[in-house]
Amino acid sequence: MFSGGIPCSVEIPKDHPRYKSLSMRERLAELAKEGVVTITGLIAHGRGEAFDYLLGERTIPEAKEAERVAVSYLLEAKNPVISVNGNVAALCPEEIIRLAETVPAKIEVNLFHRTPERVEKVIRHMEGAGAGRVLGRNPDSLLPGISSDRAMCTREGIYTADVVLVPLEDGDRAEALVAMGKVVLAIDLNPLSRTSKAATVTIVDEVTRAIPEMTVMVDELRHDPGKRKRMISSFDNRENLRRTIGHICRYIESQGSKDKE
Ligand code: ATP
Repeated sequence: MFSGGIPCSVEIPKDHPRYKSLSMRERLAELAKEGVVTITGLIAHGRGEAFDYLLGERTIPEAKEAERVAVSYLLEAKNPVISVNGNVAALCPEEIIRLAETVPAKIEVNLFHRTPERVEKVIRHMEGAGAGRVLGRNPDSLLPGISSDRAMCTREGIYTADVVLVPLEDGDRAEALVAMGKVVLAIDLNPLSRTSKAATVTIVDEVTRAIPEMTVMVDELRHDPGKRKRMISSFDNRENLRRTIGHICRYIESQGSKDKE
């Protein structure tokens, strides 16, 4: 059954005001039972949901700008890699595959709560959604500066990547990737997170909105290297995050004054 593009087995009335959000929760809960998503992944999703409320659950102009810059980096890259964790695999596997094919970029599964069994489950889930080749089964390299298993990656993929797209990342790894000299493109609804602050480009948007939007932008920017370079050189991530936080503050203010009316 498909609820708002998110397949899940519980029937949620289409006219429910929280239809998309509820179907995403059901989907994550189902995949938590299968071991693709972890219990802490569910908590991380809740943190994301809270920030999405503060954005009005829509893609704000600052996020669109960051998405365009991120796509420009992906198209300029020699070895672009999309890093996938359990939540991302659960929420938008087909959309990730489409973006990876369109750029083209490699897909690598990298998990915080890593066991060989869980890596296999997440990779199988991506393959079941149509992915051709997914890296991560046989890590042969370690990211310096990370003591957990999260450091494990493949030389062909994340280790040698010049540009890495990290939807829903944790701060330690984002910082480690930046320290290696990589361009880090983060998708994170929390503009205050360590990941958001460390990344080269931070897209403060919900991942299931951001990825399809970026896929459309690939076609817009593919034949315009001049525009890509201009977008990259004029982008200031700190300034974009500052404007994003301003946007959130104004949105909260506007909601507060509506309540008084
Ligand atoms: P950091 O370590 O970067 O300070 P954190 O400890 O919150 O942040 P995680 O617990 O790994 O890191 O959480 C992942 C991040 O992903 C959270 O900041 C959350 O806001 C964000 N997030 C969760 N679900 C989504 C989603 N569907 N789309 C976009 N971002 C999301």
